[in-house]
Amino acid sequence: MKIVNPSNNQVIKEIQEDSKDTIHQKYNKASDAQKDWQHSKLEDRLKIIAQFSALLEKECESLAKDLSDEVGKPLQEARNEVNGARGRIQFFIENAKKWLSPSLQNTAGNTAEELSFDPLGVIANISAWNYPFLVGVNVFVPALIAGNAVLYKPSEFATMTGLNIGRLLKEAGLPSGLFQVVVGDYHAGERLLELPLDGYFFTGSYKTGKYIAERVASKLVPVGLELGGKDPLYVTEDVQDLKQVAGAVAEGCFYNNGQSCCAVERVYIHEKVYDQFVPLFIEEVKSFTTGAITRSAHLDFLQKQVDDAVKKGAKLELGGRKGNADGSFFESTVLTNVNHEMLVMKEETFGPVIGLMKVKSDQEAIKLMNDCEYGLTASVYSKDIERAKKIISQVNSGTSYINCCDRVSPYLPWSGRNKSGLGSTLSYLGILAFARPRGWHIRS
Ligand code: NAD
Repeated sequence: MKIVNPSNNQVIKEIQEDSKDTIHQKYNKASDAQKDWQHSKLEDRLKIIAQFSALLEKECESLAKDLSDEVGKPLQEARNEVNGARGRIQFFIENAKKWLSPSLQNTAGNTAEELSFDPLGVIANISAWNYPFLVGVNVFVPALIAGNAVLYKPSEFATMTGLNIGRLLKEAGLPSGLFQVVVGDYHAGERLLELPLDGYFFTGSYKTGKYIAERVASKLVPVGLELGGKDPLYVTEDVQDLKQVAGAVAEGCFYNNGQSCCAVERVYIHEKVYDQFVPLFIEEVKSFTTGAITRSAHLDFLQKQVDDAVKKGAKLELGGRKGNADGSFFESTVLTNVNHEMLVMKEETFGPVIGLMKVKSDQEAIKLMNDCEYGLTASVYSKDIERAKKIISQVNSGTSYINCCDRVSPYLPWSGRNKSGLGSTLSYLGILAFARPRGWHIRS
């Protein structure tokens, strides 16, 4: 498998993909290792995970370099990602004991009723490339802490990072065999679906997530899906500092080139501030340096969305074309005069293209925000928090932002609705997702 740097289209290295046989061998090793791991002390597991975090810190620079080379994100954003992953690991370390320890639920009568948790067993973590450290850590860290073995399939666009993670977990003291990196594209993913695994945890597109859920349904094992989004944001007319808001919204749209599941993908602006907002927003976007688009095949997809919008009457305010031919680039693109007949307002863009749309009222904004098949995040900017809450509580999304956007906290569940997914990662729900409850009735 060739690893290509999307910012210059150069081959970085070639890596051997896993075959059906090697994936089976990895499964057998993981299954054997899990038998002891599930009986190990939680404190001992947490020590290994803390050591893994320390190694991420120690090797941050080289990890960030590999990540930047293979997905094309700027080095500083890659460093931020490694450090962000450490913050999430810290949350799991501090909270796992509280949620996974056995607890007495009822003592009335002569039967003690207790709740404890068993691991699921051997799980698959099929992952995406846009934030491979962050979305990986959301799954494999709580899964290992809860006593599972993990077959981790990084995206084919983030293989070096996947192998780095496997190496560092081993160096941190994880028992041999427990965490297996499965190298390859969808063929390797398919092999995982054929194995008798005890859970499937997927981060990626709706199309693949739905396919995986259908393929493994008859196994009756837990399936977690963290899928795409078409996240809306509404700017009301009462915001105080429109320039500051325009800057924050632009960053929410264009951070990582819009290649974030929770990137702002649609902006609705109250008509009373629309004419002031648009030039402030465009000025901000012009100040950004455009990074590479990780999958070169996506360039044509972005072009199609822009062309479709322009054909249907959108005004191209900025960008609109592929960039530098030596690499995989697309200009930061701003469209106005957009409507919901256009693909750019309905279909996940996952790139540096945004539509700005004027609305007359909160009711119209709510209606448009809900006119979408996804339900990951939604934002409202307003100085009136009660008004913002009232608006956003009518929008169907797993995460609500007021006067902020495009952020993730390990303390809160990360959970999509509709085509954005199933289940939750992060928070205590994202710890318990990797365990099975056991109810005890003890009469002495
Ligand atoms: P993708 O669906 O193309 O691939 C994801 C993973 O699935 C990869 O590892 C891929 O090799 C594997 N895969 C593909 N086909 C498969 C098959 N038939 N069987 C088994 N495995 C298969 O997604 P992507 O391009 O890597 O990621 C982009 C998408 O991920 C976007 O839609 C984005 O919004 C979403 N995403 C969501 C979250 C979230 O937390 N909700 C986070 C990051 C990315």
